[in-house]
This record gives sequence, structure tokens and C-alpha cells, in this order.
Amino acid sequence: MKKANLIILGAPGSGKGTRASALCEVLGIVQVATGDLFRNNLKNGTELGKLAKSYMDKGELVPDDLTAAMVEDRLKNPDAARGFILDGFPRTVRQAELLDEILSRKGEKIEAVLFLDVPDEEIVRRTSGRLICEKCQATYHVSYNPPKSDGVCDKCGSKLVTRADDKPETVLKRLDVFRKNTLPLVEFYRGRGSLIRIPAELSQDGVKADMLGLAKQIGLAG
Ligand code: AMP
Repeated sequence: MKKANLIILGAPGSGKGTRASALCEVLGIVQVATGDLFRNNLKNGTELGKLAKSYMDKGELVPDDLTAAMVEDRLKNPDAARGFILDGFPRTVRQAELLDEILSRKGEKIEAVLFLDVPDEEIVRRTSGRLICEKCQATYHVSYNPPKSDGVCDKCGSKLVTRADDKPETVLKRLDVFRKNTLPLVEFYRGRGSLIRIPAELSQDGVKADMLGLAKQIGLAG
């Protein structure tokens, strides 16, 4: 399979994580989710984690240079050699410029940017009821994508919890930040001809087949 470097863009709760992980399975590439990286740092008590928490708790963005440095470091890992999907990065035009610099240092580029277009009402519905595994970070939803057994992760058997920043007031703040800082990236990448819009009405059951169809459509899978 061709090497695929992809970005998935979408509001918080748009289903980015679920779609990114399905696409990774289909293409054999790695998912690089900046939110997960920050949460792992936090769990491990690193300085970066402590700093990130002060922003995350308020639903604000961690500064661009710190976030980009973390991504550059992550992409040096050999598991990214076959390609990657960036989930939650870039989130500002400045981050997109920093990403260009990171990739040009590696002699690489982005193949396609997938934009999950989800109406606001749907976002609020999906974010309330969202659950995350405290160990492996797999995500679920009490109604749309429930775990097989209540409160327990299907993948690793650990406890499912609600994300600290999924409180309704923080979700509204994150949506606001998304509109102001991240949505301009849709035009940024559309201008480069690399944007693919994905209507996000799809049921959870269809995600994997749909992502395979998409990968074929953009010439990344046979
Ligand atoms: P997520 O899991 O992608 O919803 O991210 C959770 C939180 O982590 C965000 O609300 C931000 O505070 C922080 N974060 C994640 N990705 C980024 C990024 N690319 N730039 C700045 N902050 C980020």
C-alpha cells in the first residue's frame, strides 16, 4: 500500500477519533491524536502534561509551538514510517504552517485532509454521553456506540470514564475555539486542493467499510 500521511479535521465530538482509528486499521498506519498525547503526558505526570492541563481544563488550546514540538517528536517514532493520520492537529493556521515545516524537514507531505462536517446540534448530542477508556483511550457513547458491558472497555477491559473537558460548559467553549481557530483550516486546505469533505451522518456500524471506501476513492487502498 502507498504511504499515506493524512489529517482528519472536525469539531470536538464529530467522530474524528473513531474514523481515524478505523482508517488506521484499513491502511496499516498510525493514529497520532494530540489530545491523547497530552492526556498521556498528564497521566505520567510530565511537565508538558501539567502545563497542558491548565489549558485543557478550560477548553482552550495548548500553545502552538509546544504542540507542534510534541507532534514532531511523535512522528520520529518508527511506527510512523508507513504513514500516519493526525487527529486533532493542526488546530490553528499557525500549527498548519509549523506542520509544513516539520514535514519538509522529513521530505514528506500530506496526501489528503478529511473534513468531518457535522451540524452543531449533533455535536452537542454526541459529546454528552461520550465515554473514554482511562487506560487505552478508546472512545464510546452511551447511545451511539455503547460498550458491550456497561462501564467497561471492550478492547482492554479497563474502566470507562467521562472526560473532564466533556462538561457542557467546556464543550461549548471548545466548540467556540473550533469555530474561531480551526475552521479556517478548511479553506486553507481546500485552497491546496487536498480537502475531502465527509458528511458525518454515518452509523458506527458503517464506519470501517466507509473508511475503506474512502481510502480506495483517494487511491490509498486497492
Ligand atoms: P481532543 O482530545 O482532541 O479533543 O483534545 C483535548 C484538548 O487537548 C483540547 O481541548 C486542547 O486543550 C488540547 N489539544 C489537543 N490537540 C491540540 C492542538 N492541536 N493544539 C492545541 N491544543 C490541543
